[in-house]
Amino acid sequence: MSDRKQFRAIKGTRDILPPDSALWNWFEHTAREVFESYNFGEIRLPIFEETTLFARSIGEETDVVAKEMYTFQDRGTIQVGYPQTVEEVISSDEAVRAAWELKRLPQTPENELRVNLMHHACRSIAEEGAPALLRFVAELHALDLGDSITLRPEATASVCRAYIEHNMQALPANQKLYYIGPMFRRERPQKGRYRQFYQIGAEVLGQSDAPAIDAEVLEMLLVFFNRVGLTRTTLYVNSIGDKNCRPQYVELLREELRKVKDKLKEDSQRRIETNPLRVLDSKIPDEQPIIEKLPRISDHLCDDCRAHFAKLKEELNLRGIEYRENWRLVRGLDYYTRTTFEVTAEGLGSQNAVCGGGRYDGLVELLGGPPTKGIGFAIGTDRSILSIEEGGNAPRIGGLAAYIAWMGQASYPTAVNIAGKLRAAGLSVELPPEEMKFKKSLGLADKLGARYALIIGEDEVASRTFTLKRLADGDQKKLAEGELLEYLESERRR
Ligand code: ATP
Ligand code: MG
Repeated sequence: MSDRKQFRAIKGTRDILPPDSALWNWFEHTAREVFESYNFGEIRLPIFEETTLFARSIGEETDVVAKEMYTFQDRGTIQVGYPQTVEEVISSDEAVRAAWELKRLPQTPENELRVNLMHHACRSIAEEGAPALLRFVAELHALDLGDSITLRPEATASVCRAYIEHNMQALPANQKLYYIGPMFRRERPQKGRYRQFYQIGAEVLGQSDAPAIDAEVLEMLLVFFNRVGLTRTTLYVNSIGDKNCRPQYVELLREELRKVKDKLKEDSQRRIETNPLRVLDSKIPDEQPIIEKLPRISDHLCDDCRAHFAKLKEELNLRGIEYRENWRLVRGLDYYTRTTFEVTAEGLGSQNAVCGGGRYDGLVELLGGPPTKGIGFAIGTDRSILSIEEGGNAPRIGGLAAYIAWMGQASYPTAVNIAGKLRAAGLSVELPPEEMKFKKSLGLADKLGARYALIIGEDEVASRTFTLKRLADGDQKKLAEGELLEYLESERRR
């Protein structure tokens, strides 16, 4: 018996194989087309970032940051120029300088440890001199202290980081960016929920928070969903206020929740203190009648937020966009302000959200950038594709156009030549690498799902006409080379 281990994809991750991958490519390609028609440009982002970027932007109290992030300590890279050898150790001044440099590093637990170690070393150096400093350096190396790094659970934080890093506020007009790629969250895998999943997102960042921006973003989203046949969807919208009105509402909510605390389950009880808005997210049946009686944010918006929300709805009507208001739509991440929205689709069971998004004015500033308005969304590709497939709307994409059934070594050069020409014309062609019996060859063409078999035998080579067999109904045509190309191309356009 072999003791070789059978490797499998890690739980919550999966391979996307052909022909499914063609559907994925088409889905992403269509997003590019639609988004670019709205003048969005693609931003390609790193897959991992400093942990604190996510912790600060998404919020420590959210499920994503508290439970779901893939975080690891990077290998240590000695970032500051402290001495590595006895020769380099000149005096304790050197240690003081290095300590000072360490202090300028971002405040993370690892850096704090470094600074503490350094202070300790400085004291010993004053007494013992160079050997103490060397001991300290060795200690640091042994700790192998790298920065804490996280596989991105979402990409808005990275987009904002990039906006700041590349000084995009200096560019004319709003920045309209989209991204496509994998995200990572350590959740319980189930239908429509994976640990590596894929999102397509779009963000608008800049100085304006005009409701027309929110409406255009939603229009673009729905145009895209329509184009890919994701039509059995519902758009929910809400406004969750801003820093002027939300804190009072949250306090009111907290007071009301405290009164009914005993009737709530553990998670909600905890959230009364940590993040009362999240109680509105609860799906627990027993809690529903209680939540329905809680004060609603729409009755507590400040004048500016109320006007913004009213104008947004006007803008949606102008564009003929159907929506439903849902006062409980608060979204899982902390950074949202004013507009929040979600799109659900059919055929997905309980994981039915295919897109979530909203406004996040203030996030860029929170990350150390200039005051900036922002709005965006993230589409879940895995679930969208599931819903398209379950709705029976998945288009037949690509597929094999022609299988070349060649027979006899004398016809092989012609087969190679014709295959090259058909491929250059953009057709998908399978050329069997070895000679096969005619029956077997046609059987394989059928199994591969080819639309046509092109039969090339010695007779065909001699007469320079080829037999094209439509596999669906067995219909056969004799065509000269020029006619063949023309015919297959016209078929492809149909
Ligand atoms: P959910 O409530 O379903 O957990 P979420 O609010 O955590 O969703 P967002 O952070 O808003 O999700 O992400 C936007 C979209 O990304 C979701 O609507 C969903 O389609 C998709 N998504 C989120 N998490 C996963 C996951 N673990 N697996 C597959 N798709 C996901
Ligand atoms: Mg989630």
